[in-house]
Amino acid sequence: MGKIWRISGPVVIAEEMRGTRVYEVVEVGDARLAGEVIGLEEDKAVIQVYEDTVGLRVGEPVKGTGEILMVELGPGLVGNIFDGTQRSLVTMIEATGDFIERGVRTSPLDRNRKWHFTPSVKAGDQIEEGDIIGTVSETGLVEHRIMAPIGVNGSIQKISEGDYTIEETVALVVDDKGKEKQITLMQRWPARKPRLYKKRLNPENLLITGTRIIDYMFPLALGGKAAIPGGFGTGKTVTLQQMARWAQTQINIYVGCGERGNEMADVLHSFRKLKDPNTGRLLQEKEIFIANTSNMPVVAREISIFIGITIAEYFRDMGYDVLLVADSTSRWAEAMREIGARLEETPGEEGFPTYLGSRLASFYERSGRVECKGRPSRTGSVTVIGAVSPPGADFSEPVTQNTLRIVEALYSLDVALANKRHFPTISWLGSYSLYTDATRKWWSSISPEWSETRNIALKILQQEAELEEILTLVGPESLPEDDKLVLLVARMIREDFLMQNAYHPVDTYTTPRRAHMMLGTIMKFHELAQKLSASGTLVSEIASSRMLQKISRMKEISNEDIDGYIEDLRSDMENQKEGI
Ligand code: ADP
Ligand code: MG
Repeated sequence: MGKIWRISGPVVIAEEMRGTRVYEVVEVGDARLAGEVIGLEEDKAVIQVYEDTVGLRVGEPVKGTGEILMVELGPGLVGNIFDGTQRSLVTMIEATGDFIERGVRTSPLDRNRKWHFTPSVKAGDQIEEGDIIGTVSETGLVEHRIMAPIGVNGSIQKISEGDYTIEETVALVVDDKGKEKQITLMQRWPARKPRLYKKRLNPENLLITGTRIIDYMFPLALGGKAAIPGGFGTGKTVTLQQMARWAQTQINIYVGCGERGNEMADVLHSFRKLKDPNTGRLLQEKEIFIANTSNMPVVAREISIFIGITIAEYFRDMGYDVLLVADSTSRWAEAMREIGARLEETPGEEGFPTYLGSRLASFYERSGRVECKGRPSRTGSVTVIGAVSPPGADFSEPVTQNTLRIVEALYSLDVALANKRHFPTISWLGSYSLYTDATRKWWSSISPEWSETRNIALKILQQEAELEEILTLVGPESLPEDDKLVLLVARMIREDFLMQNAYHPVDTYTTPRRAHMMLGTIMKFHELAQKLSASGTLVSEIASSRMLQKISRMKEISNEDIDGYIEDLRSDMENQKEGI
């Protein structure tokens, strides 16, 4: 036990702290605020405090807990809303009313609730760490697989079906030295330490997001890492929300980090209504929220990301595909800068700590597809997407630049597109994905033509960009017919395929198959138009074809009717081969 020696905003220095360790969790002051030791010098400990430090006084006690910051893992995670240090906001609001008081201790997971446990191993079985020993049906969408924690190996002495709280023993294991170990539904894991797995695997399957420009043009693989940089109002939050809603993963984690509280409230609200397109169940049955909004203590922001990723890895270890989105990693980096400044560290670029790059990497590098530990053998993945909000949309600033070195897919949001109300504002010229090759095989199961269709469309968009430069010098009338056709088709690709309205009930989510039908139709029209143009039809005549209007309505046609609609369109095209 030590005492407060100095207070500087969220950073407290305590004296008489010999014996404490870096990253040990401590209770600070009479209010017992939660904090974490981040530095030691002789008998003094530098502590970052996760709660508002107003009112703390020099001399108040500081008590070590002997523990590092642990994440609670078990049934009760899904559908929950946690703050930056994994306090359940749901439980806290029940405990203290809407206004969350400082120093409130609530357990992350409900201690009283009973869960029905069904064993999948029996007494006498030999088990190893990571083995699945049974299941709990957590929500209608998630089967929670109970795994033997790391370090638990031996033979099952007792295990039985029944209703248990997360702290009650569901299985008793005896190791080869005769030592007994109890397995409960809950286990704990240090937030800053990656969870263990057997082997890293290459990503190969598409993460279906339902956003056409992502899935079709710049595909993200399950287990991949991506960033979405964009200036204010370019659609970072909406894009991440769309992913957290519709991504075809088994668990989605939304980390709201330093962004506005009312936006977070909107997110939470929408999940209470939206249904999973495949099962018809509420989306929140597979969602976990971590909210550390701009009005909450800045220090907790730093750890919130690690709590999120630890939960993601835990579900990965069950054999699931997990998506984690973080909005925004810039606010997260700013928290580090603020703490760094309090510590009087020598700052790096633009005042960010010199370890900015390695801290960003220690988050993104926890993504991946892996062979999980334990039996039955299984694979799981964590995909990470972080929003980056560079001040003034200047991508040369340190957070964007450091992130670019780590991620393998980039969705670059374009202010000019936002001004034109072209959403999503993902730039087709400034974005890329290194998962295009990895997902080729997956895409070929939807259509062998994917790769070619994608390449041609991207090429037309590229040509459009080049023509636009010429157009600033000469009028469109002076362009040759070939170029006019490029401009026409590029506009169709942009407006009828890439543009996608998040608020339209059909357009909000597009399956890969449907996306291919849509772009394939535009490309068929392109071929037809090329033929007609070659035989003398003017592009201006082609542009007034009724088919253009039909193509532009494609995106709003319901999923039940789209096949017939596109069949009609294609037969129209067949019939028009002779001329418009
Ligand atoms: P940011 O988080 O980058 O500041 P937001 O995600 O809040 O920006 O987006 C700003 C606004 O842009 C939204 O309120 C919405 O009106 C519009 N918007 C963004 N993306 C879309 C989309 N896919 N479809 C329709 N509107 C969008
Ligand atoms: Mg935002």
